[in-house]
Amino acid sequence: MDLTLYNTLTRRREKFVPLTKGKAGLYTCGPTVYNYAHIGNLRSYIFEDLLKRVLIWNGYNVKHVMNITDVGHLTSDADVGEDKMLLAALREKKSVWKIAEYYTKSFKKDMKKLNILPPDIWSKATDHIPEQIELIQTLEKKGFTYIAGGNVYFNTSKLNDYGKLAQLKLDAEMQARIKDDKHKKNPHDFVLWFTKSKFEAQEMKWHSPWGKEGYPGWHLECSAMAMKYLGKQFDIHCGGIDHVPVHHTNEIAQSEAATGKKPWVKYWLHNEFLVLSQGEKMAKSGGNFITLSTLEEKGFHPLDYRYFCLGTHYRKPLMFSYEALEGARSTTKKLVEKVLDLKKSKDKENKTKQQKYLLEFTDNVNDDLNTPKALATMWDVLKDDTLSGRDKYSLVLKFDEVLGLDLKKLRKEKIPQDIITLAEERLNARKKKDWKKADELREKITKLGYVVGDTQEGYEIMKV
Ligand SMILES: [Zn+2]
Repeated sequence: MDLTLYNTLTRRREKFVPLTKGKAGLYTCGPTVYNYAHIGNLRSYIFEDLLKRVLIWNGYNVKHVMNITDVGHLTSDADVGEDKMLLAALREKKSVWKIAEYYTKSFKKDMKKLNILPPDIWSKATDHIPEQIELIQTLEKKGFTYIAGGNVYFNTSKLNDYGKLAQLKLDAEMQARIKDDKHKKNPHDFVLWFTKSKFEAQEMKWHSPWGKEGYPGWHLECSAMAMKYLGKQFDIHCGGIDHVPVHHTNEIAQSEAATGKKPWVKYWLHNEFLVLSQGEKMAKSGGNFITLSTLEEKGFHPLDYRYFCLGTHYRKPLMFSYEALEGARSTTKKLVEKVLDLKKSKDKENKTKQQKYLLEFTDNVNDDLNTPKALATMWDVLKDDTLSGRDKYSLVLKFDEVLGLDLKKLRKEKIPQDIITLAEERLNARKKKDWKKADELREKITKLGYVVGDTQEGYEIMKV
């Protein structure tokens, strides 16, 4: 079966046909590094990793670029609100540069723990200021910009198809925005370059043709960097569904206006949100802020979360609850035990028998990345008694090239006795409600390279 993907631009499933035979250019919007990524953010990166692995599975040579937004940008996509990086710097009493460095590192650690393949190119916004200025100059020459209140704006009324990705109804929507910024000529216009910062303590600023000190608007960096590394037109651009109405819409506008080439990107793929049981979106602060470390502290392995995400199609909202994640954990555990058992098997392989399942698996993942069905195929293999142990092992490892559960590296982790002793001590402290001691012991265990989580039976220890 051909690889088919749901394209947000056309609202249809389409056969994937790359611009250059055998190659796929992929751009994925990366994190804004002012805080830890929460597990809702991480769902997007797991989906994008899956897409990349499916492209590789289909024989494409993938060139993947991911940006790191380390320039301060505002709490709202619509050029209003407060500067996220600056808020973080004040909160943590560090410079914005230190904040960016710290959270970039922590993001990359999360990616590794989730077995996400790193992009070929990590591109930092602050390393690409000249490219962004150049892009604005091109837009300026072509008459797509105006200056108001000292800032450079993109004039959306100069494009006849602005908002096509989101199918925006231009009059009705977001009228409120023009009120937020009296300088805008049209409600959807957006800032390309800020010179008049509302924030006195802006640390990140650069010289530009529009003034001594300023900084780029958020949408600009993705256009500039994607075109630098992937060309004026490329195959696939991804992100969370929240990027459709503003960020990706504006990326398209400024890129197509600058090059005159359409479409800028052939396929746009977006994943749905992770939602909490009460139907809320994951928040960036407060009790609903769940990070990968939160899960590890509760005794989950990061790949339990990956398995959990694979269980729901990326275009469906994923309902998160600890009970549901526990379900994924026990299934992953069962899978790991089976694979470890099969690893020992010395039977002969039967490639013809394997072929049927390989085709089925390919059909599933090529059907707009249908991972729930692909997982079902994997479990069918494990249950099929006509297959030898070796056949099962080979197939599951092969499938794992796409699923990314790191099954090849599995070995039974023996937990050292001193760690078990500490965990027992901690359990006793908890029983006595001595939370301080329990916390200290947890910290001790973490320092030794293990995580301990609380379960109904007592505790669970894992190596990290
Ligand atoms: Zn972007």
